[in-house]
Amino acid sequence: MKAPDFAYRRPTSIREAIALIGEGEDPMLLAGGQSLMPMMNLRMARPDILVDLNRIPELRGIRDDGHIVIGAMTRYSELLASPLVREHLPLFMAALPHVAHPAIRNRGTIGGSVALADPAAEIPALLLALGATVVLQGPSGERRVPADDFFLGIYETAREADEIVVAIHVPKGGGPFGFYELARRHGDYAMAGVAVALSEPRIAFFGVADRAVRAPAAEAVLRGRNHADPRVLDGAIAALDLPFGGDLHTSAETKRHYAGVVLRRALAEPWSELVAA
Ligand code: FAD
Repeated sequence: MKAPDFAYRRPTSIREAIALIGEGEDPMLLAGGQSLMPMMNLRMARPDILVDLNRIPELRGIRDDGHIVIGAMTRYSELLASPLVREHLPLFMAALPHVAHPAIRNRGTIGGSVALADPAAEIPALLLALGATVVLQGPSGERRVPADDFFLGIYETAREADEIVVAIHVPKGGGPFGFYELARRHGDYAMAGVAVALSEPRIAFFGVADRAVRAPAAEAVLRGRNHADPRVLDGAIAALDLPFGGDLHTSAETKRHYAGVVLRRALAEPWSELVAA
C-alpha cells in the first residue's frame, strides 16, 4: 500500500514551518521518517500537508549551555558520535546502541522519538531519568515542559498539534548511572528496560506501561541508602507500583516481573563513565 496524496513542504526556518502547519487541516511533521513513513504507507497516518523539518539548520546540533542542548533534528548516530554527549551524558551512550539498527539510527531523530512517545522507546525514559526539559515552539511562542510532565500515554504527549519540538535540554551529572534493556533480539523494541540516575535517585522504566514512567516509591526506598545492600534493592523492587500494562506479547503481571529483573541488573554495577555497550 502507498500513502494517499499529500502536499509536501520543505521550510528552512522554524518560523516558516509553524506557518505551514497552520495551512493544513491535518498537517504532520516529517523528521527521520522511520516511524512516520511506514505509518503513512499503511494509511495509519493521513496528513494533508507534510512539513519536512530536514532543511532547518536551527533544529540541528548539540551544544553546552551549562546543560546540554540537543536540537530536535539531531540523529541518534550524531548523538553517539558527539564528544559532548560522550563526556556529559554517558547514559545516552549506554542506551542509544539499543535503539533499532545502524540504518535507522542514521535517520531517526531525538525530536521524532520524543514527539512519537512510543512506550517501548529508550529516549523518553532517558529524559525522565536525567530530569530533562522538552522545548516546544508554536504560533504563540516557546514553552518548556519538564519530561516528567510531557509523556502522557501511548503516543500521547503534552505537545499541542501546532507545536514543534525544537530542542531538548539535558542537565549534566546525576550519576552514577545504570541501564538495562530486555529485548528479543538486539535492536528490537524493548520488552522492558530501565534507566537510572542514582544521585537523586531517578528511576525511569520503558516498555512496561503505556508510556515511559518514573518509579517514585522505589526511588524513595533507594534515596540515601546503599543500593548494593540486597535488602535495600529487594525493597526497591517490591515497591515498584507502576501502572504496568501488558502488550501483544505478554501480560501486565509479566511486565512487573521484567521490571524487577531489569532494575536488579541495571544496579548490579552502576558506572559514572562511559560504558562499552
Ligand atoms: P518520524 O518518523 O519522522 O516522526 C515520528 C512522529 O513524530 C510523527 O508523528 C511526526 O510528525 C512527529 N515528529 C517528528 N519530529 C517532530 C518534531 N520535531 N516536533 C513535533 N513532532 C515531530 N525506536 C526506539 O526508540 N527504539 C527501538 O528499538 C526502535 N526500533 C525500531 C525498529 C524499526 C525496524 C523501526 C523502523 C523503527 C524503530 N524505532 C525504534 C523507531 C525509530 O527510533 C524512529 O526513528 C523514531 O521513533 C521516530 O523518529 P523519526 O525521527 O524517524 O520521526
